[in-house]
Order: sequence, then C-alpha cells, then structure tokens
Amino acid sequence: MKKREWIYVQPPMAYEVYCDLCNNKHVEWSEFQGHVWCWRCMKDTKGTGGVFSGPIPVKGAEIMGICFDRICLKTGQWLKPEIEGKKVVHKPIKNLFFPIFDPKPYNI
Ligand SMILES: [Zn+2]
Repeated sequence: MKKREWIYVQPPMAYEVYCDLCNNKHVEWSEFQGHVWCWRCMKDTKGTGGVFSGPIPVKGAEIMGICFDRICLKTGQWLKPEIEGKKVVHKPIKNLFFPIFDPKPYNI
C-alpha cells in the first residue's frame, strides 16, 4: 500500500466515510492512501465511499460544510483547491502550518 502524502483537513466522518467492516463512524485517515484506520477493528480498511462515491457537487458540499482543503503531510502546509482552467490545483496557503505532523522548522 502506498503511503499518504496528504489528508483532508476534516476527518473521514465529514465526508460520510465510515468503516466498511463494522460501520464505525469514528474512523481516522489511515497512513495509507485510499484507506481509513478503524479503532474498533484495529486495522486499515478501504472505508465506505461516502461523498466520493458519486460526482461531488462542490457548491452543495460547501453548503453542507464539507471542505476539500488538504494538509500536506511532508510540509504541514494547508492546501486549498483552486480551479485553473479545467483542472483543480492545490495551492498552499502561506504561513499556515500544522506542525503536529512534523516538528522540524520549515523553509519556504
Ligand atoms: Zn471497523
């Protein structure tokens, strides 16, 4: 399994992603891509599809309070999705870091 390079800023529950094995709603993002960590099952599992199983209505998601901002685990930077032409790029918001992921000082 590939290690995750980023996580969404909100927990899986915000995206209606639960444990696919025991339906536990209180799961965490796993350290592996496309997986969640279930405390009840004590394992990494794929999780339910949640809002990702269908097309994502971005505006609707905003109204529901879902945010697709990411945290880069390598730098601790908060990345915001922006639409550029026909693709989505994730741009760092300067000076907003989550040092819990990496206590080393950053060089920008
Ligand atoms: Zn579970």
